[in-house]
Amino acid sequence: MRVILLGPPGAGKGTQCENIVQRYDIRHLSSGDILRGERAAGSELGKKAQSYMDSGALVPDDLIIEMMIKAIKSAEKGYILDGFPRTVVQAEALDKALDAAGEKVDAIVNLEVDDEVIIERLTGRRIAPKSGRVYHIKYNPPKEDNKCDETGEELIQREDDKPEVVKNRLKTYHDQTEPVLGYYRNTGKNIIDVRADQDIEKVTSSIFDELDKVDK
Ligand code: ADP
Ligand code: AMP
Repeated sequence: MRVILLGPPGAGKGTQCENIVQRYDIRHLSSGDILRGERAAGSELGKKAQSYMDSGALVPDDLIIEMMIKAIKSAEKGYILDGFPRTVVQAEALDKALDAAGEKVDAIVNLEVDDEVIIERLTGRRIAPKSGRVYHIKYNPPKEDNKCDETGEELIQREDDKPEVVKNRLKTYHDQTEPVLGYYRNTGKNIIDVRADQDIEKVTSSIFDELDKVDK
């Protein structure tokens, strides 16, 4: 199964992917996680991406498109895309690559949530860098204070989750990423709208109800 997960930063994409990939046995391809991995490894791509990410801007399309098409090709059993495409140019490039491979996306899940909710979610987010698990100090706390349930590693706050950068990321989302939804609606794709301002479990079950219908 191939799925695209859309939604603003903080909508809960990474959180929901933890459950989705297990149920459908597909790969979680998060452009943000891949970029953070490149930065941690000190690669050329990581170095190029750094200043954009730290300011809440988007990394240039050509770099992202190459990186994600490569990731998609390596996910033979299917995948869920998280954080990509984030511009109409990226969505067009993805369509072209899928066409060339004779493949199509089975569903597009769109997580809907208002800006006020996002700010509280992002500023309270904590991540486990090694396991990639996502927590929230209030809504999804770890069992032991500030430690990952899976690995026991210390949780950290992403630099770009600080309030000044969050504001820029929201603006970037409304200016450059929201049009991607319009692009997909115009092309008549199967879009599943899900209200993401409910409990994590409720959002998960709404997504499962819909994806079960398209799972092959
Ligand atoms: P995204 O990947 O879309 O940027 P995350 O999955 O990292 O978003 O979620 C952002 C923050 O909000 C995290 O701290 C996460 O624990 C929390 N969160 C995710 N979904 C919900 C929800 N339905 N209700 C409350 N908090 C949530
Ligand atoms: P995320 O983890 O999805 O919140 O992404 C963190 C940062 O990585 C973003 O603020 C961007 O700077 C960069 N990024 C992630 N995905 C993309 C993308 N598809 N296009 C451009 N930049 C991206």
